[in-house]
Amino acid sequence: MTEFAGAIDSKSYDVIVVGAGGSGLAAAVSAAESGASVLVLESQQRPGGTSRMAVGSISAAGTHLQKQAGIVDNSNDFITDMELFTADLLVHDNANLRQVLAEQASLTVDWLSQMGVVFVGPYAEPPHRVERMHNAVPGAASIVKRLLIACQSLGVEIQTQSSVSQLHQYADGRVHALSFKSLDGMHRVSARKAVILASGDFSASKTMCSAHLPLEASRAIPINPTNTGEMFDVACKVGAQTLNMQHVFGPQMRFPAGTSTHIANKMPSWPWLNQFMAMFFEYAPPALKKLLAKPMLMAHMSPSEQLFAQGAVLVDENGQLLDNKSPAKSIAMTESRRGFIVMPNHVAKKFNALPYFISTAPSIAYAFIDDYISGRPDITFKAKDLETLSTSMGLSNAKGLRQSLSGISADYWVGLGPVQAMLTTTEGSIAINSQCQVMGATGQPIESLYAVGCIGQGGLLLRGHGLHLAWAFTSGRIAGKYAASQKLLKETSHATV
Ligand SMILES: Cc1cc2nc3c(=O)[nH]c(=O)nc-3n(C[C@H](O)[C@H](O)[C@H](O)COP(=O)(O)OP(=O)(O)OC[C@H]3O[C@@H](n4cnc5c(N)ncnc54)[C@H](O)[C@@H]3O)c2cc1C
Repeated sequence: MTEFAGAIDSKSYDVIVVGAGGSGLAAAVSAAESGASVLVLESQQRPGGTSRMAVGSISAAGTHLQKQAGIVDNSNDFITDMELFTADLLVHDNANLRQVLAEQASLTVDWLSQMGVVFVGPYAEPPHRVERMHNAVPGAASIVKRLLIACQSLGVEIQTQSSVSQLHQYADGRVHALSFKSLDGMHRVSARKAVILASGDFSASKTMCSAHLPLEASRAIPINPTNTGEMFDVACKVGAQTLNMQHVFGPQMRFPAGTSTHIANKMPSWPWLNQFMAMFFEYAPPALKKLLAKPMLMAHMSPSEQLFAQGAVLVDENGQLLDNKSPAKSIAMTESRRGFIVMPNHVAKKFNALPYFISTAPSIAYAFIDDYISGRPDITFKAKDLETLSTSMGLSNAKGLRQSLSGISADYWVGLGPVQAMLTTTEGSIAINSQCQVMGATGQPIESLYAVGCIGQGGLLLRGHGLHLAWAFTSGRIAGKYAASQKLLKETSHATV
């Protein structure tokens, strides 16, 4: 990876990638592996995007890990099972791209493994008929790290703090350059073969969320506040078409992140260490696994809705009851978009052993109330009376809380919160074909423009675990290969947009 400033305006690259998240880095590595010179432009100070924050689950059929575990699987079964998740929304889905995902995701897991990414699993996730969920150890940040290392060894240039704001076309529509703003002003750089858009989703754009999403989702807090989605507009200006912009699987009820960084971001990415951790996850006794999983409580964990079925209540900042049948939506509609979970001691006690848990640490452990008391004292409270609980949780009105819990008796009370209505990702994307080329209004590809990851979902609706990352890395791998194999762009006309 080469960091540089200035002098870029006179440079050109075979392939330029917009965004250094999971899909962009996969595209960069794949294009460079195919012999292309590659520049990646990233708007933030640090590469990784949402991909760096992710758990690291990738669902795939036919992987080496499945074979090792004696699991016989194929892409047709994978498609049928994925469709069970999407069910009522299948009419809006892109069947061609789902097939690409089903056929190619296992090659992606193998490709990443060859780069030194260590996966554990596969794990079950019904209604998938067999175990398909592969988890990167210690998390998706380790995939980002391995891709960055691959970029470095392949000579990919990554320029951070460089926000792309315009694509330039020849008169016949081919995209051949782009403009971006970096710390020292505006620049323009040329792509000899292709530009790949890998700029993520739009969950942090107030304007786009209000324009496209259902009201509750548009009010939710984005987990990644830098997902501002401006590349959707930039792409549309050169003829890209948007699809399924109204779809979102959320909001979800999540705790705010803790103050210490997620363990995955602190771990060095040495393959032997990841390998050791994979063995640890496979063979260590549960108590030891729990120790390692504990820092995961610092992430935006989702509290289990079992809490409400067992007698916990959900209240707003004034202590007023909220509808706990659809908790995330009712929290989203409060002014502060924050709720609080309160329960008597006998309910809290139940949440110290399976089948009752406060949240998961996926595939590794379940977190119970005592784990939260010791691991997240910032959001877990205990008090003899509701006045004290209300004050320690920062509620404005103890009277409201007393009314909401009237008729329930307790030796002491336990509170969890705040709990927020949050958006993990949006599903809306721009139209692409099975090579990830961006499609124009006439149904023809816009030559030399590709899109991958969230912005390049091409209408895919990815409900279920492990499918967004599977698509991000798979689409990046595919697009990088095709972009690198394009003919060099020859200028046919000086007219540019
Ligand atoms: C907490 C959390 C956990 C998750 N866990 C999982 C999981 O386990 N499995 C799974 O399948 N999915 C998971 N997801 C979803 C998954 O992480 C995302 O869908 C996926 O990472 C998106 O990858 P991407 O490359 O499209 O976008 P990103 O990783 O967000 O990358 C986009 C990059 O583009 C940059 N960018 C944007 N605009 C510009 C611009 N104009 N110029 C230059 N750069 C720009 C951004 O800064 C960013 O770095 C999770 C999401 C969250 C929030």
